[in-house]
Amino acid sequence: GGVRPLLVLDGVVAGYQDCTVLRGVDLAIHPGEVVALLGANGAGKSTTCAAVAGDLPIAAGGVLLDGEDVTAWPAHRRARAGILLAPEGRGVFPGLTVEENLRTWLPDPEPVYDRLPQLAERRGVLAGALSGGEQQLLTLAPALVRPPRVLIADEPSLGLAPLVVRQVFEVFGELRERGVALLLVEEKATEALAIADRVAFMQLGRVTWTGPRSEVDSERLAAAYLGIG
Ligand code: ATP
Repeated sequence: GGVRPLLVLDGVVAGYQDCTVLRGVDLAIHPGEVVALLGANGAGKSTTCAAVAGDLPIAAGGVLLDGEDVTAWPAHRRARAGILLAPEGRGVFPGLTVEENLRTWLPDPEPVYDRLPQLAERRGVLAGALSGGEQQLLTLAPALVRPPRVLIADEPSLGLAPLVVRQVFEVFGELRERGVALLLVEEKATEALAIADRVAFMQLGRVTWTGPRSEVDSERLAAAYLGIG
């Protein structure tokens, strides 16, 4: 104890037009902590990510970043304050090469190439011609050089080959060591549980259970995915 959470969701209510999806989401993530948000399709996991990133107006409740109330802040202001939504976070420019993409925000891409050698090999290739996994690594590159405070990863392994999935999760592990608070939404529960410090189950727009990964057994997992937890 002692360290205050970097990200807090306090009774967040949000949705789309007339449709309320989040019905009071409570969640806290500490610096250097990975929280896996699991639950059945439609439970509201992606909507939670959008609410944290500022892509969705919050009707009630609040979002705190390091104790500061950012509920009314637009997405770009939250991004500047260190809340990064991946993979969409910064996106890539498909018509620019890997090198040109990196140089749009980084004078010297070498630190990225050292850490992600396959991007070095592809430095002259147009980003639009990269594989999905290579594009994913390219979007995560800024986080490696200048870590965000909060990284929200919504289905980061979707459609990626196993080798790239492993690399993406290695990047997450490195960011955790550097004190990033990581909210991870992942269909592949095994991958998510392997890195998670804590697990939060979501059901019908609420977090219904949260606890250390060690307390998550197959019975609890099954209940969460079937929506009977
Ligand atoms: P999944 O695992 O299927 O992605 P999820 O837990 O991420 O599920 P959300 O994507 O947050 O769930 O969706 C929650 C509810 O919000 C669903 O009923 C969905 O139909 C609805 N919803 C999601 N996006 C929109 C949108 N842009 N407009 C209207 N309703 C939406």
